[in-house]
Amino acid sequence: RTVYVNGDYVAEADAKISVFDRGFLFADGVYEVTSVLDGKLIDYDGHATRLQRSLDELEMAAPMPMEELLEVHREMVRLNNIDEGLVYLQITRGNPGDRDFAYPPADTKPSLVLFTQSKPGLSSNAAAEKGLSVISAPDMRWGRRDIKTVQLLYPSMAKMLAKAAGADDAWMVEDGFVTEGSSNNAYIVKGNTIVTRHLGNEILAGITRAAVLRFARESQMKVEERSFTVDEAKDADEAFVTSATTFVTPVVSIDGEQIGDGKQGSVAARLREIYIEESRKAAV
Ligand code: PMP
Repeated sequence: RTVYVNGDYVAEADAKISVFDRGFLFADGVYEVTSVLDGKLIDYDGHATRLQRSLDELEMAAPMPMEELLEVHREMVRLNNIDEGLVYLQITRGNPGDRDFAYPPADTKPSLVLFTQSKPGLSSNAAAEKGLSVISAPDMRWGRRDIKTVQLLYPSMAKMLAKAAGADDAWMVEDGFVTEGSSNNAYIVKGNTIVTRHLGNEILAGITRAAVLRFARESQMKVEERSFTVDEAKDADEAFVTSATTFVTPVVSIDGEQIGDGKQGSVAARLREIYIEESRKAAV
């Protein structure tokens, strides 16, 4: 497959990044994952806006304007023949020439890498119908989860805890409340009300989250943005997660306890359908 590295579209085997790149040495970098349906990008503007915010929070320069980045995304989709799948983008603070904790001068050239993954069937409902099982795990990540950094070791560990327990994913818990999933935002539904954690430094502001909450409100569903506990989740009628690559996916058990009737909930099913339909229409 063809990847993009600092201005060049090259074969994966020919791609090179310095061992002194701060992404490699300090996890000093940010990323975005944009899904592709029908060969088009879903919610590119949302991802570009969040990317710019992540860069600003870390005082990192954008390697090029966001409109040009869109063209790089499109070229990657074209070169790799992606019909359904994703584009991964990563910007790191680059190679200042030596290892030093302090940020290098602002004119250090950032590294920009993109690759694609083809995922035929991404929008199918087969996976969604089965639903996910999750475990709860302490949230041991750093305090700025609102910045989408490549520092993903704890989410990996949480995923391994889930695997070891025979589950699909982990919902992380801090001070007694669920923050989010290892790579998605977490929701419960009780009666006609959708509950998901309010935004803050504790979670990533999901681009899918913003769209799904907008569609929910437009469909006259009630939305509460507030913290909830694992016990409240176990007692909910249904639960689900959202992310760019899973859209809306039901959660059917938590810590081995079935949620609702243990099947895909009707609210999650409806939101998934609306989200995919509307996203296809607005895709670029
Ligand atoms: N929270 C975390 C921790 C994530 O890693 C992700 C996926 N990148 C999300 C939420 C969902 O964000 P989005 O809808 O923008 O993919």
